[in-house]
Amino acid sequence: MPEKNDFLSRNDVVEINELASSISEYYFPYGQIDPILIAEKNNISYSFGNYSDSFDGLLECENGVFHIYINLTRLKQAYSERARFTFAHELGHFFIDDHRNALLQGLSPSHCSETGFKSRNRAERQADYFASCLLMPEAGFKKYCDKKKFEYRIIEELAKKYGVSKSATALRFCAIGNHPIMVVYSFKNKIKWYWTSHDFRFKWLKYGKDRLPEDTVAGEYFSMGRKALNTEPIFAMDWFNVKNENQANLPFYERCLIHGEHCLSIIWED
Ligand SMILES: [Zn+2]
Repeated sequence: MPEKNDFLSRNDVVEINELASSISEYYFPYGQIDPILIAEKNNISYSFGNYSDSFDGLLECENGVFHIYINLTRLKQAYSERARFTFAHELGHFFIDDHRNALLQGLSPSHCSETGFKSRNRAERQADYFASCLLMPEAGFKKYCDKKKFEYRIIEELAKKYGVSKSATALRFCAIGNHPIMVVYSFKNKIKWYWTSHDFRFKWLKYGKDRLPEDTVAGEYFSMGRKALNTEPIFAMDWFNVKNENQANLPFYERCLIHGEHCLSIIWED
């Protein structure tokens, strides 16, 4: 049996989006969202510093007072896309009731976050998803996509508009974009997770999550070191568990975002 997609539950997706979008629309009805200002308005102090290589960001709670640490050892610049995303992720640990209450009651240690959808921990994914919803509020995102035919350029344009990474943008597009896409994250030639738009034609990967298919752009990168810099044409059977034979050669596209051993594949049908 193929494994069920375990990126986030449907409930998480709906509730976190509503929470984060309402916060962005309240503080920033127009223009780019500044997570630092949202912290200030909520009496959360913060510091940017070099804290060795152990975390990207951290939300600490002492005597009911919250403080965000952003680790420049890993994120380089305070105004980089990754630092913005990490800051928004830490705000997620504050605004998501369960996370904040656990910190207030001393039930969980301060969150040492590794942001950017790399963690398997559910709370970390919830905070990553919160960050993505906060920085790319639903209404503006949908308005931008409206009546535009999907191509990779749309992801690049949205990433620039909202000051976020292309991988975070692709995930947001998966949830609320106007064209069905699939996103697959692989690390060291292994699939870590994947996610699809609700109306994506194929729900199951060729080998489930057990094995990265060799004939995909991601597969060729890991097995042969072939780093494709552009969007590549592929067939449905390269990635998916195709039940109906006439669907095997359906044309799809794959675009890979590659950083060292990390690869995010964005897959869509023409
Ligand atoms: Zn975290």
